[in-house]
Amino acid sequence: MTQQGIAILGATGSVGANTLDVVGRHPQDWRVVALSGHTRIDRLFEQCLAHRPRYAVTGSEESAAVLRRRLREAGLDTEVEFGADALCRIASLPEVDAVMASIVGAAGLPSSIAAARAGKRLLLANKESLVMAGHLFMSAVREGGARLLPVDSEHSAIFQSLPHDFAGDLDASGIRKLILTASGGPFRLMPADRFAAVTVEEACRHPNWSMGRKISVDSATLMNKGLEVIEAHWLFNAPPARIDVVVHPQSVIHSMVQYRDGSVVAQLGSPDMRTPIANALAWPGRIEAGVADLDFGALAGLTFEAPDLARFPCLGLAYATLEAGGDASAVLNAANEVAVEAFLARRIRFTDIPVLVEDALSRLDLSASPDLPSLMAKNDETRRYTASRIS
Ligand code: NAD
Ligand code: MG
Repeated sequence: MTQQGIAILGATGSVGANTLDVVGRHPQDWRVVALSGHTRIDRLFEQCLAHRPRYAVTGSEESAAVLRRRLREAGLDTEVEFGADALCRIASLPEVDAVMASIVGAAGLPSSIAAARAGKRLLLANKESLVMAGHLFMSAVREGGARLLPVDSEHSAIFQSLPHDFAGDLDASGIRKLILTASGGPFRLMPADRFAAVTVEEACRHPNWSMGRKISVDSATLMNKGLEVIEAHWLFNAPPARIDVVVHPQSVIHSMVQYRDGSVVAQLGSPDMRTPIANALAWPGRIEAGVADLDFGALAGLTFEAPDLARFPCLGLAYATLEAGGDASAVLNAANEVAVEAFLARRIRFTDIPVLVEDALSRLDLSASPDLPSLMAKNDETRRYTASRIS
């Protein structure tokens, strides 16, 4: 393959760092054109030293000045910019062939839409883009002629288990349903009466995956699986009734496709994000990702159980927003982001998260077919509303 330019948005995070790990194994195939990081400037500086991007973007004018000075001292002429517009700019550069969208939360939406409109090969980790604005996001992908490749491990698994000519019609491809696997999170076996006392550390200690703090809390509430149901709905044009969730604590099967003839096609592997990242980078090819082969002799067993919607109401709330349509999922997402931030700041209890999300959904007026400015406005309104409920 001829060398491709890549921009990694959210490079300093968990998915971003794993992407640099995989890209760094293939210097002849990938050139890092741009990196972004919001606050961890030391980490971004180290990444710039190692990968020598043309551009770097930080979250503020001050941090950009600090990074610029340190890079000059180190003899690099990387152009340093800051802010949301700069993220959209690096996502659309002509020398950028592929964009890894790995910013966390609603903050990732404008730049992933920009990459879609610019027709990039778009490696999507930022599931919140699809949850907030699935309809508009998928239109931007189509109109921009982008190639959308899922990075979320479940969606990568489904993508790999679909027929190669899948064109967004489940029936035409003989598919009965998509089956998302869930680890169940750190509190899978905990009785509900202990949930109110769980700590931030316990919630962030995921049994199988090492991830950023927001998605770790989402995994503990099962909101992450709810967001992934919404993500699957948009990526694969699947109605909610044809997306099942099964708890599979070992996280070896990353998700499955159930076909009409009784076949279930699954993708398996070690729980290591470098596999779905490498798949999205190289698709339809396969490249070395540094991931250990699955050792079947060492697997004690694969088990499955139904998710408990009573102990984990966030999953049901997410399904309900798909039925409601319009901007309901954007409200769910915004309320959840504010609630999770407050939990991480030890301002609310773990059990307050679903209560705050449900409250926002029942109190705010939902709109049936919002455009992008009104979705962003609803995101801001919901954030303010939920913040006011907390204080
Ligand atoms: P993380 O917290 O480790 O990293 C987040 C990145 O986003 C950082 O680079 C940070 O600087 C940047 N960022 C944060 N706030 C920002 C803002 N306001 N503006 C611009 N940049 C900002 O998160 P992560 O775990 O790497 O997750 C990133 C995304 O990938 C999330 O949407 C998550 O749901 C998804 N995802 C992550 C994993 C995983 O294994 N970590 C798996 C599947 C999907
Ligand atoms: Mg996932």
